[in-house]
Amino acid sequence: MTTPPEPLTDHGLFDAVVNLCKRRGFVFPSAEIYGGIRSTYDYGPLGAQMLRNVREAWWRAMIQERDDVVPIDAAILTNPKVWEASGHLATFTDPLVDCRNCKERWRADQIDGACPNCGSTDLTEARPFNLMFKTFVGPVEEDASVAYLRPETAQGMFVNFLNVVTSMRRKPPFGIAQIGRAFRNEITPGNFVFRTREFEMMEMEFFVPPADSPRWLQYWCEERLAWYQRYGIASEKLRLRPHDTEELSHYSSGTTDVEFLFPWGWGELEGIANRTDYDLSAHEEHSGTTLEYFDQATGERYVPHVVEPAAGATRTMMAFLLAAYDEDEIGGERRTVLRLHPRIAPYQVAVLPLSKKEALTPLARDVLHRLQRYLMCEYDETQSIGRRYRRQDEIGTPYCVTVDFESLVDEQVTVRERDSTEQTRLPIDDVVHHLLERLDL
Ligand code: ATP
Repeated sequence: MTTPPEPLTDHGLFDAVVNLCKRRGFVFPSAEIYGGIRSTYDYGPLGAQMLRNVREAWWRAMIQERDDVVPIDAAILTNPKVWEASGHLATFTDPLVDCRNCKERWRADQIDGACPNCGSTDLTEARPFNLMFKTFVGPVEEDASVAYLRPETAQGMFVNFLNVVTSMRRKPPFGIAQIGRAFRNEITPGNFVFRTREFEMMEMEFFVPPADSPRWLQYWCEERLAWYQRYGIASEKLRLRPHDTEELSHYSSGTTDVEFLFPWGWGELEGIANRTDYDLSAHEEHSGTTLEYFDQATGERYVPHVVEPAAGATRTMMAFLLAAYDEDEIGGERRTVLRLHPRIAPYQVAVLPLSKKEALTPLARDVLHRLQRYLMCEYDETQSIGRRYRRQDEIGTPYCVTVDFESLVDEQVTVRERDSTEQTRLPIDDVVHHLLERLDL
């Protein structure tokens, strides 16, 4: 039987999740044996799998389950003229201030006139700091070989607009979607993987006839909010927040953020922006290539407007972990449980032979192989069964399948469900079907 959990303090929740991530192999400080590098992380075995599940859940909703969005995978290093045209070279900046007392640097809009480190108010004037990482392509470090690591994936979609329209015979409204790494030289990274200098984005550019963009902005706000709920975040922990006019990015005529209630307060998971024809027009001007859509049916010619839902995969993974973390009591014993959605959990099933005795191994491995064809499984035969259940609860595995000595005789196994801890005895031949039915949400 489960009893309601005692609420963790928010500070306790953050520490508990960060701790669990390290201990159980979700997220490690990068290059830890060398002392790490500030706010940079490596995704461990469970984190790599979970991040992949986050991407797949997004891909499924944004591409697979629709017929009006196609994917691309563009280069990270591209022609620097892209960043000139997009406005990133001139305006992708944060206001930087130095503390004259302790020499720390801060984002002016994130502090309250005093240095958070030493409290001094002796700060320099804010100056714009460009967040793009600069590098050199080829062996010579000269101006002509400067390139930038992309700070967003979106431009890869804009510069391929014509290629996609032509090769895929697309007509607005339609979208181009992409998942990939992006890089921003953030002045103050922090809060674990919430803000890092290298992160992963999931972005979609939806090209529409100009007059329709407000309606599509509304549509995508509702769709994206529902996506977070579908994958397990309670609606009280989510909200849509429209930007004030002063807050809008240089390309936007209207933006709404999907926000999650992080332990320190509301924070952005995703920005949904009406980018108008800003990007396509800018690329037309800089490249000299016409980026209009010609509608043969109406004879109309126009530069489409773009509605963009831009989400962070790594930040979303953190939100899923925080939302799923729970502690309760089972039969007088306290347990930690990640109530992750089955499609987001690193493993969907753990196969657990009751004992390491050789007699059980062939059958247990047979069950494992049957399940592995469809689901991510873990096989674990060490320690007591109770401890193994606890471990699976702690990493969010929704089902455990236990093979015991009875199984050798009756060809049945026990399926244990993570949240209720309920156990069901089932014929081995039915297990795959039984689990797929429950997991295919
Ligand atoms: P912020 O105002 O927090 O710097 P932003 O408004 O510049 O973020 P966008 O450009 O809208 O962010 O990026 C889209 C999404 O990419 C964000 O909602 C977030 O999920 C993710 N993201 C942006 N910057 C980072 C970062 N430094 N680390 C992790 N994820 C990030």
